[in-house]
Amino acid sequence: MVSTVTPRPRPIENACFWLAERRRKTDPPLIGRREADIVIIGAGFTGLWTATFLKMLDPIREIVVLEQGIAAYGASGRNAGMLGEAIDHSHQLAITHFGRAEAARLARLGVENLGNLLRFLEERRIDCDLERTGQLHVALTPSQVEELREAQGVAQELGLSHYRLLDAAATRAELDCARYQAGLFNPHGCIVNPVKLAEGLKREAVQAGTVFHERTRVTAMERSNGGVRLRTAHLPGAAGTESRMEATGVAAERLQAAASRLKAAAARAQAAVAPGTEGEIVARRVILATNAYTHQIFPRLQSRFIPLYDYILVSEPLSDEQMSHLGWRRRCSVADMRTFFKYYRLTRDNRILWGTSEAAYYKGNRVDASCDHSERHYAELRDSFRRHFPALADLEFPYAWGGPICSTTRFTPFFGAAEDGRILYGLGYTGHGLGTTHLAGQILAHMALERPSPLLVLALVRRKPFPYPPEPLRSLAVRAVTRALRRVDTGRRPGLLLRCLDAMGIGLSS
Ligand SMILES: Cc1cc2nc3c(=O)[nH]c(=O)nc-3n(C[C@H](O)[C@H](O)[C@H](O)COP(=O)(O)OP(=O)(O)OC[C@H]3O[C@@H](n4cnc5c(N)ncnc54)[C@H](O)[C@@H]3O)c2cc1C
Repeated sequence: MVSTVTPRPRPIENACFWLAERRRKTDPPLIGRREADIVIIGAGFTGLWTATFLKMLDPIREIVVLEQGIAAYGASGRNAGMLGEAIDHSHQLAITHFGRAEAARLARLGVENLGNLLRFLEERRIDCDLERTGQLHVALTPSQVEELREAQGVAQELGLSHYRLLDAAATRAELDCARYQAGLFNPHGCIVNPVKLAEGLKREAVQAGTVFHERTRVTAMERSNGGVRLRTAHLPGAAGTESRMEATGVAAERLQAAASRLKAAAARAQAAVAPGTEGEIVARRVILATNAYTHQIFPRLQSRFIPLYDYILVSEPLSDEQMSHLGWRRRCSVADMRTFFKYYRLTRDNRILWGTSEAAYYKGNRVDASCDHSERHYAELRDSFRRHFPALADLEFPYAWGGPICSTTRFTPFFGAAEDGRILYGLGYTGHGLGTTHLAGQILAHMALERPSPLLVLALVRRKPFPYPPEPLRSLAVRAVTRALRRVDTGRRPGLLLRCLDAMGIGLSS
């Protein structure tokens, strides 16, 4: 008789390559009652940059950050680490949504923003395995070659002259894949280890006097005299206390060692604070830096975004022979030109990270650990990798995970205030927030301190995106648009649905 054992789901802290490498104790949860000038909910890049800029603008302001997991538990610790200058998904989309003059402004701002971010990392000596590799967009079909040409033309029109169009041979000289028909190279792109980046930002924030409470979930918000009262619950168990990953060799040993260290830390922390213990904090202002989780704590923003899950694989380290086979000489990050595109890069120790933008929506806006894995996406990712690099068909991918992205109908974040300015928010980076959260941090810090800034008059700060319909329409709409976009990826022209959305300024197929 054959017995089948259903594998227990792998905890994200072991399944995600970046998170599995992290070793540190968690900061103490919020216990009892306290006060602060400003509370930031969420210690992803939005929360971390906002804390940084608040302290730069007003060093004596008392800032407390509450995080339900460990810093970078959300998208910030699970992403591909491809750091670019784009604020919108494409310059053409920026024109569609905001007009040519504003798109040119965003294009300039994107370049400036990336430069400032990199300067900050250098000045503060934040080690995040930064590599200035450039970013390559590749065409897999003749119509995508045309799109690359158009993209370069639009960038040029908006004042960006650094994009270089590559023919098939020049593209394959960057990375040797027989499917490439052309490429568009942007030398400004970088790759980073996102968890190291978040940890570096957190260290800076702590040094500046910001207080962090980790494993502290905000469960309720209400107005109180002149401010907001937050109730919190201490989440049981430390992240990554059990290693259930089916990894092999060195990776497994390292994971097990990390897991036992974390287990010991968890035991110490749990001995001190019982799970579920409640805390309370009253603040003059609260900043929601909760991105795809925002509806769970502030349902009124639910119509403005949709939480989607992107999935990623990371391979074992490549041998020198495998590396020379790929000829990935500049180590640039790569994305193809499909609507549902694949994105990939090398890690510092020469693993391949292979991800898909064909995101999953879980009915009812679900965002929790039950969405962290999708075998369907993993199988499709492995197949697509083999199609791209058949000579490496046997490569193992011991890490596989998903993470929540927060998508808006215009593909850019939005900002706002509620409850007479006591609650502020910024969210909706639609899968490209590594650079943009650095801008969002400045925007939110200026809003919170009521300081003027040219950033506050950007159209994306002043205007909200077109809303998504509520359930059950939302699920139906996602299914219909996904089908329509898949058809576009097979080379067909956008159908009636996408043309209508374009006409409404939603512009998904641009
Ligand atoms: C798989 C994947 C790949 C990506 N790849 C890239 C890429 O290569 N380049 C790029 O630019 N962008 C990429 N992104 C997008 C990028 O990661 C995000 O835009 C960015 O990290 C958003 O940061 P954030 O701080 O706003 O959100 P998050 O990092 O999600 O942070 C929100 C935080 O709030 C916390 N939180 C939520 N609710 C509560 C509560 N009630 N109480 C306490 N804490 C709470 C969460 O635990 C979380 O830590 C990717 C995203 C994913 C998921």
